[in-house]
Amino acid sequence: MAIIVGEETFPANWASALVNGDFSALTLLEADRCRDAMTALLPARVVSISDGASPRFTWNFGLYDPQSGFDGGEVLDYVTHEFVNENDPRMRPVRCDRCEMLMICGVACHERGCPNMGARWDREAQDWVRQRECRECGCTVDEDDPCCSAPYDDEEDFYQGIEERLDALEDGGEVSEPEG
Ligand SMILES: [Zn+2]
Ligand SMILES: [Zn+2]
Repeated sequence: MAIIVGEETFPANWASALVNGDFSALTLLEADRCRDAMTALLPARVVSISDGASPRFTWNFGLYDPQSGFDGGEVLDYVTHEFVNENDPRMRPVRCDRCEMLMICGVACHERGCPNMGARWDREAQDWVRQRECRECGCTVDEDDPCCSAPYDDEEDFYQGIEERLDALEDGGEVSEPEG
């Protein structure tokens, strides 16, 4: 068996539930949402809080707990482990089919002029994905990732969700708010 280590962000107050399976600090609704998130994560599971991570406030809380109805809240980065077979394709070593690439201290070092230089190794696809810098936000993203040019990103959907809830309120409609 081998372990693939990942990182996921979830609400900060889910820590004892995610890491220790102790749901006592959560409301019933929160516990349900936390269990759903854990199920969605399978076969990976949260094993600890990321090294040096501490709760941080975000106004995009809905991205991490969409059913909460909260706009802002504290989130935390968690370490996830997924146990995989040694033969899992994702365990295959990073390789370059265009040059005699060397792995030096976990960093892929391509030969000068290799077209894959600066590309990101995609473990799932077992291939190199070229990167580009987004002109709007300056982030490095996959070459085919529209990033800020995307018609709708998560954040826009999120704010749209808030507007819809406000509209519902103005119309005198019922807006379900979580307990607690
Ligand atoms: Zn290369
Ligand atoms: Zn961008």
